[in-house]
Amino acid sequence: MNPLLKPFNTAPFSEIKNEHFLPAIQELIENTKAEVDAITNNSEAPSFENTVEALDYTGQQLDRVTSIFFNLNSAETNDEIQKIAQNISPLLSDFKNDLLLNEVLFERVEKVYNSKDSLTLTPEQETLLEKQYKGFSRNGATLSNTDKESLRKIDVELSKLKLKFGENVLAETNAYELHLSNEEDLSGLPDGIKEMAAQTAKEKEKEGWIFTLDYPSYVPFMTYADSRLLRKKLAIAFGARAFQANEYDNQDTVLKIVKLRHQRAKLLRYQSHAHFVLEERMSKTPEKVNSFLKDLLEKAMPAAIREFKELEAFAKELDGINTLEKWDGGYYSEKLKQKLFDLDDEKLKPYFKLENVIQGVFTIAKKLYDLEFIEIFNIDTYHEDVKTYRVTDINDNLIALFYADFHPRAGKRGGAWMTSYKSQQIKDGTNDRPHVSIVCNFTKPVLNGVEVTTASKPSLLTFNEMTTLFHEFGHALHGILANTTYKGLSGTSVFWDFVELPSQVLENWCYEKESLELFAKHYETGEVIPMELIKKIKASATFHEGMQTLRQLSFGLLDMSWHSKDPSEIKNVKAFEKDAFSTTQLYPDVKENCMSTAFSHIFQGGYSAGYYSYKWAEVLDADAFSHFKEKGIFNKEIANSFKNHILSQGGTQDPMKLYKKFRGQDPNPEALLKRAGLIK
Ligand SMILES: [Zn+2]
Repeated sequence: MNPLLKPFNTAPFSEIKNEHFLPAIQELIENTKAEVDAITNNSEAPSFENTVEALDYTGQQLDRVTSIFFNLNSAETNDEIQKIAQNISPLLSDFKNDLLLNEVLFERVEKVYNSKDSLTLTPEQETLLEKQYKGFSRNGATLSNTDKESLRKIDVELSKLKLKFGENVLAETNAYELHLSNEEDLSGLPDGIKEMAAQTAKEKEKEGWIFTLDYPSYVPFMTYADSRLLRKKLAIAFGARAFQANEYDNQDTVLKIVKLRHQRAKLLRYQSHAHFVLEERMSKTPEKVNSFLKDLLEKAMPAAIREFKELEAFAKELDGINTLEKWDGGYYSEKLKQKLFDLDDEKLKPYFKLENVIQGVFTIAKKLYDLEFIEIFNIDTYHEDVKTYRVTDINDNLIALFYADFHPRAGKRGGAWMTSYKSQQIKDGTNDRPHVSIVCNFTKPVLNGVEVTTASKPSLLTFNEMTTLFHEFGHALHGILANTTYKGLSGTSVFWDFVELPSQVLENWCYEKESLELFAKHYETGEVIPMELIKKIKASATFHEGMQTLRQLSFGLLDMSWHSKDPSEIKNVKAFEKDAFSTTQLYPDVKENCMSTAFSHIFQGGYSAGYYSYKWAEVLDADAFSHFKEKGIFNKEIANSFKNHILSQGGTQDPMKLYKKFRGQDPNPEALLKRAGLIK
């Protein structure tokens, strides 16, 4: 029998064969449809229990199987799994769409929603009801049939345009190569980068070195290449993507996307696309976001200008540069950083042995939240590299299962992420504990050309990799400590501009003496990382923070400009963008370049009217951490408050309410500005 159709607790990886997925998911979709039919066919009047709660309980096994499948497709994929994904994805999106268009179901949810004031619901139940109702209404459920049809048309058109936008950016990225055959042109580049470029050339059956517009090739070139002429060439090529009056030009695509998004918002009776998006965000309104961005801009500007002038003077002194251009920023910034801090990864790595860092986060989780992590070897995994842990509280009650998969391999996508194999919920009096996982790509040490980990050659993390581990572990804690009734609101099921708080806040412990002392010990000598190094790390972490902040704010403001007003009068993408950038530009404009035509975050991905959330989350994490800092970073009272009001609460209430319960006041950007060294 198909192991995915039997009840299981931990994911039965060893029994699953690829051919099990499609039939299992087909059958589970049918089962879930039957569960939904049972709700719509119920002859009793709609109530919270028989409709809203019942809907949250549907599709339990389907959720579990799809999470196993998509996690595998990210962490241990192959051609076959990818092919299956192409079959499964449309099935799931059709199923989801049908559900949102199910009029009988909506009618029942709406009846409960309209009577909510006369019901005695817990705050969590109110939130679940609101979330479900909005899920339908934001998808057009309350519209007339004609308007519904217009909405469908817009959605079809928008998804085509987003796809086209992405394809154009990809085509333009792939179409360009900087082919160098003179070794002098590589001056300044680290050996590893040169080797990579030689390898790229080889793959394309060419002599010499090839650099491309992909980040792993582009960024190091802009950071280290001594040739200003070549940096300029590559930078202009990068900035001109999908802005070159050829078949891949995205100018028209951008205008069509923003206009359709506006129309869609208007149909649903929102003032703009941003108003529509932000309704389900902690920030709530475009006015709030704009004033948030402008306030930070005002405060970051003096530091940014100061840093820019410093950098300009440095470039002039070093190479006689008179006007600092976009293609100079990264290069001189790196040079200045080296001069000021002389901090390189190789010096730090011996203090960050992977096993020590893992024990470090576990110790921190114990000190803060009384969690105990015990490695176990009796549950299935999808790869021998995956480690598994039983997470308990001090009374040995099971809190969660935790999977950790640290090293890169063919079949794993890049980056790092947290995910789960089982959601937490409380049903029929039982608290089902979650199965949480983190996946990273920390390089294994290489010995004679082979990746190995031995006692004398352990896996050593860069500082950046260490903060990544803390970041993902912070997300994991949000999942592990989840304690809500409904799975639809559990763990990381929160508003988008709130989800990075638990992850980012934990990164703060990477910079504190008191926590580093617990685990940052030299792998050979056992010596604790010297304070002087910690100080340097802290100082270098905020290096050029003013300019960095300005850059992030400029993207956020551009995004808001595109999405918070009626765009029907916009004719010229570049002119509009230039205007949006006018308050944040430090470098001279490059007329051949346009950011919007390749701004995939907001035109292809899901970040429209959401780019600000990067800074928003930083404000939250700095403010939250300052609360810890005041009383001690391992203060139990603050830790309990963070656990009880934030980590365990998922999306059960509006995040601003939860945050204020923890903090006792609104989030204040001052802590971030201080941490970033922008104010004293
Ligand atoms: Zn994150």
